[in-house]
Formats: sequence, structure tokens, C-alpha cells
Amino acid sequence: MSRATSATIHVDALRHNLGVMRRLAPSSRVLAVVKADGYGHGLERVAHALEGADGFGVAALADAERLRAAGLSQRIVLLSGFDEPSDLPALRRLGVDTVLHHDSQLDMLAAEPGTQPPVRVWLKIDSGMHRLGFAPQRAREVFDRLRALPNVDDDIVLMTHFAASDEFDIPRTAQQQSAFEAAIADLPGARSMANSAAVIGWPTTHAHWIRAGGALYGLSAVAGRSGVDLGLQPAMTLSTRLVAINRVAKGEPVGYGGSYACPEDMAIGIAAIGYGDGYPRSAPSGTSVLVNGERAPIVGRVSMDLVAIDLRGQPQAKVGDPVVLWGRGLPIEEVAEAAGTIGYELACGITRRVRFVEA
Ligand SMILES: *Cc1c(COP(=O)(O)O)cnc(C)c1O
Repeated sequence: MSRATSATIHVDALRHNLGVMRRLAPSSRVLAVVKADGYGHGLERVAHALEGADGFGVAALADAERLRAAGLSQRIVLLSGFDEPSDLPALRRLGVDTVLHHDSQLDMLAAEPGTQPPVRVWLKIDSGMHRLGFAPQRAREVFDRLRALPNVDDDIVLMTHFAASDEFDIPRTAQQQSAFEAAIADLPGARSMANSAAVIGWPTTHAHWIRAGGALYGLSAVAGRSGVDLGLQPAMTLSTRLVAINRVAKGEPVGYGGSYACPEDMAIGIAAIGYGDGYPRSAPSGTSVLVNGERAPIVGRVSMDLVAIDLRGQPQAKVGDPVVLWGRGLPIEEVAEAAGTIGYELACGITRRVRFVEA
């Protein structure tokens, strides 16, 4: 038997989730964020499933290149902007918009004034996250400089990014929104603020373009709530099979370091998945998996290729039976929480040896 570890990508779920975003923000255009290989789901596969989006957001020019090579003609936005002068001809060749967040980028544009066609720019204002963007008080000055450059398209999109839009009951997002809106009040052009959590929890931020990532994949950015709780469907199911079932005696340890000792004589199932596939080593004993669709806890330390499962609740389980690690029937957020991370990181961390299947 070849290794059974696979990530099933649910194309219908991607489309469903895009529909959810559109219903929540009916007057906005949707930039589907597909950075990090479509949040680990596979860039081209995701982009084809989300062809109904108005554009795609990427973090690397190489990803824009892949989207164009795959025949996608939608608007593409390079969310972290360009790094060096030689990126500019690539942006033009690929017809890609760029975010502009730093003076160094402004200088690179100013150094090639006559070059055509003009580049389309999304001007990023730092409204309080303090990661990327120009200070609000510089919005007018930078906007005017861009407008004066003949190699920059006059149609400039104004954007900002939220640091805590998943926290619906603190004022941080509303404060960022006010700071942004005040900074750009007199400037013309489309506005873009909302990431997935803001689409769900902060409707006044929707504006002209929402930029949805996680929600499209059924991932929740909202603490304590799974994607399913938010009406989203998981776009990935990670699964494998049992490759062994062993009787282990009371008191005997299981796995590296013997961190788990059997409380009684019991059946231990071994499933073909581990941190070498992207299942987190930090998932502790007790983290749920589904064996034949029913919950069972993992026990002991997750190793590179294998994980052990307490099969006391599943006396009928046999070698070859399916094991689901997350996805349909088991929210990725639950595993992420147990492992001390978020679903986004788990989805992005699936490794290349995992077989991807579309369903
Ligand atoms: C990643 C990203 C998004 C999408 O965020 P989600 O929380 O996944 O919806 C939106 N805007 C920018 C600038 C991003 O980098």
C-alpha cells in the first residue's frame, strides 16, 4: 500500500465560502487572498475554484506568474509590494497591481518616470497595526507624489489592514477604521480595509474591496469559533489510514519519550501521519481524530511519520480504516487550539509528501 496520507480539497466548499463572503458584503468587490499557495490548499486549484472572485491577492510575484500561466485573467494584487526595480517590468508584463507601503518603493518608481504602461498602485496606510504602511498624516503627500508620476496609474486604491478585527468586542478595529478614513477623507479612489474577520464582524469596513483569505478556506479567524460556526465549510480534509493495531499492556509507554503510559491493557492504533506531513508535533495526548468517522484521542508524542491513537472506544477498528485529522466532521480550529496555534498555520503547513486530491 502506498502512503495513504492525503489532503482532500473541497472545491464546492471554496465556492460556497466565496458566496458567504459575497452575501455578507454585497456591495463590495472580492479580492480572494491566495498567498502561501492558497493557504496551503494549492494555488492554481484554489484560483480556478474561485474564478468568480474579482481579483486575487498574492504575497509573491512568482505566485502572480503562476496565476497568469494558469490562464487566470482577473486583477491580481501583490500584497507586500515590490522589492526591487527589476520587479517593475514583471508587474507590467503580468498586469499585476502592487501595494505601495514604503518610501523605498516610491523612490524606485520615481527612478523610471517614462516607463509605460503605468503601474496600478494600492496605497497602504498604517492605521495602527504598525507592520506595513505610511503614517496617516503622510497619506495626502504620498498620494500627490504618486499622482505626479507618469508611470503610475491615476486610479489609486487606498487600503489599510486590521490587527485585531477578530476581536469583536474591543474598539481597536473601529479606531483603525476612523484613523484610516480621516487620513484619506479628501482623496479620491476606491477603499479597501476588511480581511475575513472584518467581513464577518465589522460591516462598516466593507467599502469597495474586501480582501478575504481564511474564510474562503473555511478557516475561522475568530477565537473560540470554528469556521463551521460561522457558516463556512472546510475546504480541506486531511486524512490517512490505520497501518497497525497493537495490544499494549497496562503501564507500558507509547511512542518517543514514553510520555503516555497505558492506563490498562488496550488497543493502540497507529496512523500514517506525523509532523513530516504537517500534523503538529505540539498536538498533545487527547487531541481528537476521527476513526471511521468517530472521535478517538491521540496518545503519546506525534512522530515524523506516525501517530498513536487510543482505540478503546473502537473495538471494531481494523488496519486500513480511515482516519481524519481535520476537515469535514472535525474542525481544524479544535486541533489548532490543542496544539497552541491557529487553523491558518496548520493549513499552510501541509508538506509536499502529502497527496492532494480534489473532490
Ligand atoms: C493575508 C491578508 C488578508 C487576508 O486575511 P484573512 O484574515 O486571511 O482574511 C487581507 N489583506 C492583507 C493585506 C493580507 O496580507
